[in-house]
Amino acid sequence: MRDGFIRRALKRIALLFFQVNLRASRAVARFRGDKPFRLGGACRGCGKCCESPGIQVGRLVWYLPTLRNAFLAWHRHVNGFELIDRDIRHRVFIFKCHHFDWETRRCDSYDTRPGMCRDYPRNQLWQPNPTFLEGCGYKAIHPNASKFLESLKEEGLEGEALEKVKEKLNLLE
Ligand code: SF4
Ligand code: SF4
Repeated sequence: MRDGFIRRALKRIALLFFQVNLRASRAVARFRGDKPFRLGGACRGCGKCCESPGIQVGRLVWYLPTLRNAFLAWHRHVNGFELIDRDIRHRVFIFKCHHFDWETRRCDSYDTRPGMCRDYPRNQLWQPNPTFLEGCGYKAIHPNASKFLESLKEEGLEGEALEKVKEKLNLLE
């Protein structure tokens, strides 16, 4: 279902709001002293992140039917996201994306994909313990990885033990 003119225009406007909001919230987080992980690796184009995209929402959208319905209607009619499940514990709506081609594993409207698709997996870098989908080519690197590595080597850690610690603490470059 490739996007037509109206959907493309609506998505451009929504993207602008998304980017302004994202930049502002990350600037605030940095100002507070939060340090994101660095992004390592590269996309392998497996398409796994398009299989069932999830969106975490605030309490108002989750609990208020009017807001929730408006949110879901927007995603259904503009982004092509159809609700298929909910993760109640984390307030996450899980969707099936009608732009995802399961055979080619490609997005049919890549140039007008929503902001959340463009941001993935950078959103993970702000989590205390970033996790990626199985098989994803990206990885998180601790912001102080090189300092930690120097200290571990100074303490005499090496070989297999060092490799294990590097993996567990996201120190792999
Ligand atoms: S809009 Fe495109 S990039 Fe986003 S989830 Fe759907 S197929 Fe993937
Ligand atoms: S899951 Fe990771 S490697 Fe696969 S398409 Fe998404 S970002 Fe790329």
